[in-house]
Amino acid sequence: MMLHLALLFIIIGLVLLWQSRRQRAQAGLPGGRLIYTDTQAWGRVEKPLIDAQLGLTGKPDYLVQREGSIIPVEVKSGRPPAAPYDSHIFQLAAYCLLVHKTYGKRPPCGILHYTGRDFAVDYTPQLESALLDRLAEIRRDESRRDVPRSHEDAARCRKCGFRSVCDQSLA
Ligand code: SF4
Repeated sequence: MMLHLALLFIIIGLVLLWQSRRQRAQAGLPGGRLIYTDTQAWGRVEKPLIDAQLGLTGKPDYLVQREGSIIPVEVKSGRPPAAPYDSHIFQLAAYCLLVHKTYGKRPPCGILHYTGRDFAVDYTPQLESALLDRLAEIRRDESRRDVPRSHEDAARCRKCGFRSVCDQSLA
C-alpha cells in the first residue's frame, strides 16, 4: 500500500511539474515515435522496482525484452493523443531509470501504449537529466508549505486524488 502511495505521490508530483510542449522542445526532450508492438511478448511486472537512493518506486505495466534490453511499457487508457503527454513521458522515464537501476542495463527507450497507438520514447541522457531535475524539485517542494499550481486545467483537478484537500483546485 505504501509503495503504491509513494508512486501516486511521484506521479502527482510529475504531473504538477508538467510543462508545455514548447518548453519540452526547448529542453530537447524526445516526443515519442509511433511504433508497432507485439503485445504477446510483454511480461507483467509482479513487484515494484525501487531506487532507495532516490526514494523512487514504481511498477510499469509490462517489461519487454528486446535485443538484449529490458524495456518498460506503460499502458494508458482513453483517447490516444497525437503525441505523448509530457507527464506520461516523465512517468515512463522514471520507469526507465528504475529498470536501469534494477537490472544494471540502461533501456534505450520505453513504450507508451495508448488504445490503438504505441509510441517509443527514447531514454536519452537529456530526458534522464530532466527527470532528475524534476525529482529534485519535488523533494525541495516537499518541505515548502505552499506550492503553486502549475496548470490551468480543471479536468486534471477533477481527476486528482488530492482535490478534496487542495486549496488550489480548479474543480
Ligand atoms: S486538485 Fe488540481 S491543483 Fe490541486 S493538486 Fe490536484 S491537480 Fe493540482
